[in-house]
Amino acid sequence: MDSGIPNHAGIRDGSGISDQPRIGPEESVHLRARVLPDGEETELWISGGVISRSPVPGARTIVTGGWVLPALVDAHLHVGVAEIGGPLDLDVLAGELALLARSGIGAARILGSPSTLPDDVLSPDGGPLLQHAGVPLAAPDRFIPGWGELVSGDGLTDACAERRGSGWLKIIADWFDDTGSYSAAFDGETLSRAIAAAHESGHRVAVHTQSADGGRSAVLAGADSIEHGMHLPMEVLPDLAARRGVLVPTGTVFEQLAESMASDEVPPELRRWYSDGVASHPELVRRAWESGVTVLAGTDLPVGALIDEVEWLIAAGLPVGEAIGAASWTAREVLDLPRLRDGDRADLIWTEDDPRTDPGRLRAPDLVILSGSAVG
Ligand SMILES: [Zn+2]
Repeated sequence: MDSGIPNHAGIRDGSGISDQPRIGPEESVHLRARVLPDGEETELWISGGVISRSPVPGARTIVTGGWVLPALVDAHLHVGVAEIGGPLDLDVLAGELALLARSGIGAARILGSPSTLPDDVLSPDGGPLLQHAGVPLAAPDRFIPGWGELVSGDGLTDACAERRGSGWLKIIADWFDDTGSYSAAFDGETLSRAIAAAHESGHRVAVHTQSADGGRSAVLAGADSIEHGMHLPMEVLPDLAARRGVLVPTGTVFEQLAESMASDEVPPELRRWYSDGVASHPELVRRAWESGVTVLAGTDLPVGALIDEVEWLIAAGLPVGEAIGAASWTAREVLDLPRLRDGDRADLIWTEDDPRTDPGRLRAPDLVILSGSAVG
């Protein structure tokens, strides 16, 4: 919508927005806009790639009006995957990081890679900040062949105690089994010991669950975030909320896979497991949110579907502002990412209209700034 007001100084011509403003790394700029989630009109300055909450002399005003929110966050993503089960592909990874940046996704939590991500891709200037869990920990024969560090029994605890430095660990708590079913791969006590060891070694633990047993065990074992959570029993939601736990439901990817999982080639028990899980997932997510569980937006695969997931959360029953927050300010709080505080890396998006009236606009924000530079 074009109000005709020249509220996008320096980047507007007669036909609308003509170009992204060039913001040099040494240049200081100023924005006055309504900042979400509060929606209060706020002045922000950017200098040296970081936010200043107090005036910066000589800053060029680039925006007066419109809406600002912290750059988007994908809380469950995999990158550099050219082939399921294959090695990390650095060319694919580079293309995906550029796509994330152009889409206004300024941070992502990478919950498992074929191998550890190289340090130089984790926080590039002008690119997304990546948190990562390294190689996921899984039981033998209970994960995608070729991927995962396979451990059994106390091996899981040892691996959780020994890992260093990435901030997160990922455990695959349930998977397809050799009876043609889908079931827990670790018992509750093993998970509890492993998660305690991970906490001791300074990590938070993201646990993949898609079964009632796996989900219940993960919550009771103290998992910091439940990934997918399909079939998560409702009765553990208060426990998850009490521990300030997080649920990342990845509803969009489940719906995308629903057709292939309904095929006659899938054994009947698995077909039922999947269709029941997909059908009950929106209600589960709404109940989780109502119980005080923090729900975050994560896409799994492919890269670039984050706003689809925001719309899925809205359809599941989250209020629009909460669903956008799940992909922005709430995720930044949970993951302790920059969030427009004085001195934070300047990662934000700007839209002319309130994105809460049409979240689809966030697919192509009018302006993306990462580490103080305009992307695009
Ligand atoms: Zn995943």
